[in-house]
Amino acid sequence: MMRVRFAAGRLTFARVGGGRFQIGPSALAVMRRYVQDAPEKAEAGGILLGRHILGTDDIIVDDVTTPMPGDRRSRFQFFRARRRHQEAIDRAWQESSGTCTYLGEWHTHPELCPIPSLIDRLRWQQKLLRDRFSEPIFFVIVGISEVRVWERLRHHRLMPLQLL
Ligand SMILES: [Zn+2]
Repeated sequence: MMRVRFAAGRLTFARVGGGRFQIGPSALAVMRRYVQDAPEKAEAGGILLGRHILGTDDIIVDDVTTPMPGDRRSRFQFFRARRRHQEAIDRAWQESSGTCTYLGEWHTHPELCPIPSLIDRLRWQQKLLRDRFSEPIFFVIVGISEVRVWERLRHHRLMPLQLL
């Protein structure tokens, strides 16, 4: 069923205040490799990199970082080591002359339709409070049959986005 959505090559969501949030084909293909569809597969995750489309409210995820040395992974947990992923962000920014930027984070869950855990929500809140981003920021969870996205709105409120 959901394989059809994956097969489409990209996923597009409606942003709450208008505009679209799209996960492009190569980013989706990379995340798809880490779907926890077998008991031995640990959680995976990384950072979302992409673009704000000029003159619109559309945002596209072009690339994602994947688990790196220093990350801690288990079936139900993923902790990202900050430094290496930060280096990837800096590199993408420089190589794209400042068009490829940090958009948020992703990780996998070993469940069909992923629901943020209490720990996810606490960590997201901590991150939002610490970073004080003025740009929109997104959290993606890749489940076994569905990918879900949350967007940070004003006052650090998180809203799930609707798949188009
Ligand atoms: Zn989680």
